[in-house]
Amino acid sequence: MLDVLKTQLARNYQHPFYRRKFEEAGMKPVDIRTMEDFQKLPFMTRHEINSAFESRKFGGFMTEEVVRINFSPSGTGLIPVLQTQRDVDSINGANAEAFRRAGVERDDVVMITFNYHIFIAGLNFHGGMERLGAKVIPLGPGSTERALEMAEMVSPTVLISNPSFALKLAKEGLDGVKVLIAAGEPFSSVEGYKEEVKNAFGGATMIDYYGMAECLPIACECRYENGLHIIDDFVHVEIIDPDTGEVLEDGERGEVVVTHLNKDAMPMQRFRTGDLSMIERFECDCGKTLTMPKGVFGRTDEMYKVKGVKFYPSQLNLVLRGFPELTGKFRAVIKRTEKGTDYLEIEVEGKEGVDYRRLEEAIRSALLISPNKINVVERLEKDREVIDERY
Ligand SMILES: [Zn+2]
Repeated sequence: MLDVLKTQLARNYQHPFYRRKFEEAGMKPVDIRTMEDFQKLPFMTRHEINSAFESRKFGGFMTEEVVRINFSPSGTGLIPVLQTQRDVDSINGANAEAFRRAGVERDDVVMITFNYHIFIAGLNFHGGMERLGAKVIPLGPGSTERALEMAEMVSPTVLISNPSFALKLAKEGLDGVKVLIAAGEPFSSVEGYKEEVKNAFGGATMIDYYGMAECLPIACECRYENGLHIIDDFVHVEIIDPDTGEVLEDGERGEVVVTHLNKDAMPMQRFRTGDLSMIERFECDCGKTLTMPKGVFGRTDEMYKVKGVKFYPSQLNLVLRGFPELTGKFRAVIKRTEKGTDYLEIEVEGKEGVDYRRLEEAIRSALLISPNKINVVERLEKDREVIDERY
């Protein structure tokens, strides 16, 4: 892997944007001999990409070889993401391989309900499936009626969709699907959600998929559903402490940082995604070892230190979604007791009848913090509010 990475870094170095990063670290590509050396390179951020695009047309990333311009939603606007033909081919290859591991075969009929315009999802899922040799229907987004009508006609065996739309289709009578590839929304990170969708599809294989406009694919489940395997011949993933930038050990929660291993136009080099996840290493029956057990389970933009543990409020959203009695709205109040210890109180909006023990356990196991008090209230004024009274 290090050799592949070094080849990519040498290629990046030819471009002033990346050369600056090496200069900041006082290094040249030849100085990178170990992963520790690589970890000395400064991070790349979304803010930095935005500034590049503000100051120069196409951020100075445009080359003669570029054949496709996708866009990434970025704050208030859209940021172009450039691809050469070789990039398109390697994305298609990486996706095809991931879909094959997911159990998709050449004689499958694949219905894609993602948008084909502007954003990256539809076109790239499509390219991967065509590369695999499956029969692909570029349906795009739209009403459930239209999707069901189309399904009636072609009997899809594979569906690529966000999980909420997939669930709707299943509830309205779509059947015969043996593999669902779910992307674009939290899926396996929401407690109980995957099981619910799986049941609605009569026990079909449920594949959670993770990627973003700047880098796709990043991770995808295989047919054994043991978590999302990192597509490690396409992208190198690190998990870092969002505060210190230090690379974390396997099993620790932190921010996902990605580096392309074979990309011509606009490669990501230690790019901070702002996504919260962790890595585990175990050998799956499919042969892959590097896995994100629950994919992405929050954002790292907002973080508080409570009782010595990092508290990411966005994680609470996903926990609460596992409880149908709750609306998902919450308020977390962090205080300091007279003894000087931290005190965490969480109020959640919802109806009575919630299983408190299960709620407490779900919050504790996701956050790794035991709240001092959890209240279910009928109404909260604001959505997602964190009040830190300690300072
Ligand atoms: Zn596997």
